[in-house]
Amino acid sequence: MDVNEFRKYGREMVDYIADYIENIRERTVVHGVQPGYMKELLPDEAPQKGENFSDIMKDIEKIIMPGITHWHSPNFHGYFAAGNSFPSILGDMLSDAIGCIGFSWATSPACTELEVITTDWLGRMIGLPKEFLHSDHGPGGGVIQSTASETVFLCMLAARNKIVNQIKAKNPHMDEMEIIAKLVGYTSDQANSSVPRSGMLGAVRMVKLQTDNTFSLNGVTLREAIEEDKKNGFIPFFLCASLGTTGTCAFDDLETLGPICKEHGIWLHVDAAYAGSAFVCPEFRKYMKGIEYAETLSTNPHKWMLIAFDCSVMWIKNSSYLVDAFNVDPIYLRHENEGRVPDYRHWQIPLGRRFRSLKLWFTLRAYGVEGIQQYIRRHCELAKEFERLILDDGRFEVVAETVMGLVCFKLKGDTILSEKLLEEIMATGKIYIIPAIVRDLYFLRLAICAERTTSEDIRRSFEVIKRATDRVMSMHFVIEGKHKPTIDIDISPLRLHGSCDEDEETSGTNGNHIGDVSPLR
Ligand SMILES: *Cc1c(COP(=O)(O)O)cnc(C)c1O
Repeated sequence: MDVNEFRKYGREMVDYIADYIENIRERTVVHGVQPGYMKELLPDEAPQKGENFSDIMKDIEKIIMPGITHWHSPNFHGYFAAGNSFPSILGDMLSDAIGCIGFSWATSPACTELEVITTDWLGRMIGLPKEFLHSDHGPGGGVIQSTASETVFLCMLAARNKIVNQIKAKNPHMDEMEIIAKLVGYTSDQANSSVPRSGMLGAVRMVKLQTDNTFSLNGVTLREAIEEDKKNGFIPFFLCASLGTTGTCAFDDLETLGPICKEHGIWLHVDAAYAGSAFVCPEFRKYMKGIEYAETLSTNPHKWMLIAFDCSVMWIKNSSYLVDAFNVDPIYLRHENEGRVPDYRHWQIPLGRRFRSLKLWFTLRAYGVEGIQQYIRRHCELAKEFERLILDDGRFEVVAETVMGLVCFKLKGDTILSEKLLEEIMATGKIYIIPAIVRDLYFLRLAICAERTTSEDIRRSFEVIKRATDRVMSMHFVIEGKHKPTIDIDISPLRLHGSCDEDEETSGTNGNHIGDVSPLR
C-alpha cells in the first residue's frame, strides 16, 4: 500500500468506524453464528499475490461483523463496560503509527514521560495518596499494564520476593523454595478469578476468605485466618482486596483490613479494576477509605474510563520492590539517564511496550475531569433507573446493592425461573446480559456499558426483560431439586462462591450459538 492509498483507505476506515458507532443500535447485539463459521468463508491459505484493499474492506461486513458481539451497543449489558471513545481510537492510531517499543526511556523519551505524567494525572483524579505518584519524588508511581490480571500476578511476585528476602536476611541458612512453600496469600471468595490464578502461577497458596452478607471481606475474618495460619507454621504475606467485585460490585473493608496488613507486614494489593474509575467522583470515595494502607493498586481505564483495551493502570508506593524482583539488566539495555526516570521494562513482565499513554492523554484532555465525571454519574443513574423499573414490576428481587453501573437481580422464587428468563432474553437477540452464581445464588447481571446509553435504551432493555418474564410465567415446568441445571443456554455463569481449593470452570458448552462466552469470574 502506498501513501496515497493509505490516505484513501484511512479516510474510508474512519468513516466506516464512525458509521459503525453511530448506527450500532441497529445491529443485533448478539452474534448469530455457529462455531467454525469463518472457515467456510475464508480460504485455507494466505493469498499468493497482494489484494486490493477495497476488496478487503468489503469483507468486513461479510466475514467479520456477523461474528461480532457488539460490546459498544447500548443493548449490551454483559460483564462490565469495555472502554472506548473516539479520542482513544485516535490515540491508538497514532501509537501504531509511531510504533516505538518503549521499554526504556531512551527508546523514545516521550513514551515514558507521557506515561509518568498521565498516570500521575489519573492518580490525582481518583484521589490517591501522594505516595503513589511520581511527582512525589519518592519511589512511588504509576505504570500502564495490559490487564488487571497481570498486575495482581506482578504485585504478588513482588510481595513474594520482598518477604523471601526479609526472611533470608534473618535466616541465611533457609532455602528460597523452603520459604515459598510456607507462604500464604489471601483474597476473598468474591475476588476475580485472576487472583487465585496468580497464586497458581506463582506457586503460592492463595486462600479465599469468606465474605459477609454484603459480599465484603472484613478485618475480623482476615485476623482469624492469619492467627490460625501462623499457628500452623505458615507465613502470611499478601492480601488482594477488591473494590468493586466482578460478581456484584461489592467493596472489601479496607479500613479494617489495612491496619491488620500493616501489623503483620502483609502486602496489600487493591484490585479496583472496574470501580476505580468511579473515584473520579468525590461522592464515591467513601468506598476507598483505607487506601493509604495499600502497597499497590490497579484500575482499568479500559473498563470504565472510555479508553480502549488495553490500558490497566497500576500504582505502587515503592517501585524498588518491583524493580528488585524483575531487574536482570543486560548491558545492551542500559542508557546514561538511568535512575532519573523510570525504565518501565523493570515494572512489567514483557520487555516491549506500546505507547498506550497516548490514548489516555487524548481521552483525558478531550473529556476533561468533568466530562469523565458526567459519564460515570450518568451510568450510575441509569443503573438506578433500571433498578427502579425492576423493583416496581414486583416480580423481581435485587440481590446486591446497586452502587455503581451494575444491577444484580433475579425473579422471585426458584432459580429455574431466572434460568429460563435468561434463555428467553438471549433468544430474542435484542439485549445481552450474563448470569452469575454467588454462593449458590443464581442471578442475572445488567451492566450499563455503552458510552451513549440513554434512559430510553434502559426502558427498552427492561421491556425485553418484562416480555420475556411474561413468557416464563406462562410456562409450565416441574421444579425438581433446587439447582438442577435445566437450561441448555451455555453462557457460563460467573461462579463466585467457593472455598480456597475448589476450582470451578463450569462451562456448559453445547454448541448453542449464543454460547461461546467463556466464564468470567
Ligand atoms: C475485570 C476485572 C478483572 C480483570 O481485568 P483484566 O484487565 O481483564 O485482567 C480483575 N478484577 C476485577 C474486579 C474485574 O472486574
